[in-house]
Amino acid sequence: MNGTLRTLISEEQIQARVRELGARIRADFPDQPLTLVCVLKGSFLFVADLVRAISGEVRVEFLGVASYHGGTSSSGVVKITHDLRHGIEGQICILVEDIVDTGLTIDYLVRMLKVRGPKALHVATLLDKPDNREVEVELSYVGFTIPDEFVVGYGLDLGELYRNLPYVAIYSP
Ligand code: 5GP
Repeated sequence: MNGTLRTLISEEQIQARVRELGARIRADFPDQPLTLVCVLKGSFLFVADLVRAISGEVRVEFLGVASYHGGTSSSGVVKITHDLRHGIEGQICILVEDIVDTGLTIDYLVRMLKVRGPKALHVATLLDKPDNREVEVELSYVGFTIPDEFVVGYGLDLGELYRNLPYVAIYSP
């Protein structure tokens, strides 16, 4: 990849914010079992850190979703590549995303999961990019609100690369 990277959110900022979010989630649901639904692949690092920041009973489920198809603009097409292994009926679920841009992906996933009868379903996203929003979505937990730039790192990729960066950077071709 020949583009340039400019750090937008440092590793320290991410780690501090994720700990805050974890504590807030537990404070909102004291003593209650929680199920984190990790939207693959982009949120795997966020979930790994978030789950360790939430005390008590927590389950983790994985939902494989394909979007973007290796490019840098939203397709709005959501394809499920891996479904949850267990039912979520009656559970308090937190759907964990890496980034919400148009909102189409999360809107689709929320509607798909609500049909399965969770007791509650909230969305946690590391990054919120509100400038391009096409559908109204309720985001209960937001790590950082960012400008309309294409970002990589901390799980977010470009053509499957850059997920391993411990920080979030703006990618310029
Ligand atoms: P939406 O459906 O909200 O437009 O887009 C959500 C998905 O698009 C995210 O889960 C992510 O995979 C991808 N996406 C949106 N913006 C970015 C970005 O700036 N960088 C990367 N790497 N992916 C993005």
